[in-house]
Amino acid sequence: MASHHRSTSTSEPRCSDGEPEPALETARRQLDRAAQRLDIDETILERLKRPKKVHEVTVPLERDDGSVDVFTGYRAQHDSVRGPYKGGLRYHPDVTRDECVGLAMWMTWKCAVMDLPFGGAKGGIIVDPKSLSDDERERLTRRFTQEIREVIGPNADIPAPDMGTDPETMAWLMDAYSMQEGETTPGVVTGKPPSVGGSYGREEAPGRSVAIVTRETLDYYDHPIEETTVAVQGFGSVGANAARLLDEWGASVVAVSDVNGAVYDPDGIDVAAIPSHDEEPEAVTGVTRGTRLSNDDLLELDVDVLVPAAVGNVITEENADAVRADVVVEGANGPTTFGGDAILAKRGVPVIPDILANAGGVTVSYFEWLQDINRRKWSLERVQEELETEMVAAWNGVREEVERRDVPWRDAAYAVALSRITEAHEMRGLWP
Ligand code: GLU
Repeated sequence: MASHHRSTSTSEPRCSDGEPEPALETARRQLDRAAQRLDIDETILERLKRPKKVHEVTVPLERDDGSVDVFTGYRAQHDSVRGPYKGGLRYHPDVTRDECVGLAMWMTWKCAVMDLPFGGAKGGIIVDPKSLSDDERERLTRRFTQEIREVIGPNADIPAPDMGTDPETMAWLMDAYSMQEGETTPGVVTGKPPSVGGSYGREEAPGRSVAIVTRETLDYYDHPIEETTVAVQGFGSVGANAARLLDEWGASVVAVSDVNGAVYDPDGIDVAAIPSHDEEPEAVTGVTRGTRLSNDDLLELDVDVLVPAAVGNVITEENADAVRADVVVEGANGPTTFGGDAILAKRGVPVIPDILANAGGVTVSYFEWLQDINRRKWSLERVQEELETEMVAAWNGVREEVERRDVPWRDAAYAVALSRITEAHEMRGLWP
């Protein structure tokens, strides 16, 4: 692919102890690095390094067999200077307090990059959702909602789906909240099914935004989409929808994967024929054609575009040198560690950051919230059109900073986000 790669200087990564880098550490180091390049008021920076509040709750669950298990849940609220806290809820065994804080910070920047009137939050429960029956997931969600009820609300903090949660989970949350409030309050949560105030197009939105920014980036680097090969790690909502759209727009998706491994076919994979993880869990390796690879091998394929859309921390100091893609587009939140990012930057490989690439999710969440509070539904066509407009505008805003400051795409996205957030902090001032 055409090499318009800009060489950029970055600070050296700190020594790694071999442990996965916690999201909070990555988020803080990214913030520090961006702040070095920008003129940010020290006290505002100090505040942005910390969450405003972190709520920790105990969630007892009666299992189907009558026994009781006790889980821990969190809601981290990072910053709300530009509007109510916004961000997903994760059900995963690896959820930690610090992970929620790091992911909440990314939500603050993501909403600001998109110029949405929201701040950032993230929450979750330390639980393996696969170990729960549907009834247990429902009871756990309802009780968790009750435990965080006082700190969420349509004007306060608006949850959404994330790893391990889905539209049904959001419907239970909306119902539990509404029953306690005594009035149906669809705007308390986004990512609901359309029948209860959800937006058309919300589920596919993060994948659609990944595809849109990939298309724009390819165009910027003068690379025709029809001549582009793509590898997508993860075939959940983000990966599957991104792969299908890129395929529809003429790119050749040569590798996809799920938790069991990857499939590679240099002639291209018919991604429309593979059910996504939500439609049929773990269907990718059922594809008969192509070569089987591991998830790690997929990251090192010689493709034009690599889309890590599964979990965090997959591109690290250990493998960043082996990544052969010309462009990385982050579908997951935090797929690249700070050290991995520095290596890619030094090598001149553009990394389109998560806070821009997968921001279609929260953008359509914003559309959903508008529909809920205005009691007026939008058509799918309108959602897709407005998402397209917002994504292209945000991509262009970041592209301008890339050119103006001669920095990598992540730093440029931070520049856009931080200038909006710090300006809001300065305008509002400190109270009392
Ligand atoms: N969990 C999604 C994200 O990480 C969506 C958040 C939202 O819609 O509020 O962006």
